[in-house]
Amino acid sequence: MGTMTRLKDHEDENGQINWGSYRKAQIANGEICTSCGAYVVFGKGYPEECSSCKDMSSNTGEVDHETHIRCPACAHIFDADKYEIDPVEGETSVYCPECDYDFDVSIEVTFKYTSPPLLEKNGEREEDDDDDEDGTEEGIEANTSDKPPT
Ligand SMILES: [Zn+2]
Ligand SMILES: [Zn+2]
Repeated sequence: MGTMTRLKDHEDENGQINWGSYRKAQIANGEICTSCGAYVVFGKGYPEECSSCKDMSSNTGEVDHETHIRCPACAHIFDADKYEIDPVEGETSVYCPECDYDFDVSIEVTFKYTSPPLLEKNGEREEDDDDDEDGTEEGIEANTSDKPPT
């Protein structure tokens, strides 16, 4: 078992951290994935890919990855961030930067619940009273897809 890479071992004489060498050491130590840079939970002390990347390079079926996309035509693996794919749930068309093959990826957006701040201690609880008889509800804004012209 190797020891964790220490940030202070990658400081120069001015105390500036050399992120490049720190990252290299982390990769060499198996702490981050050699392909996508994701943290490897149980690093084994030697360079390794994370489980998602291993899956991508060994599994010929459908594969999931948090940051990378695999081209079904040439198996090239690329970073989804670089292609500014809209984080919209559903199918999105992308193209392979390597072979120009167009294909659809299915996006699953993880979501969270944002709760409103706590009410003032002595404040009255305000609830949406619906005494508005003819509830003129504002129409839900149409979510028009405004893709920039290519
Ligand atoms: Zn990876
Ligand atoms: Zn390709």
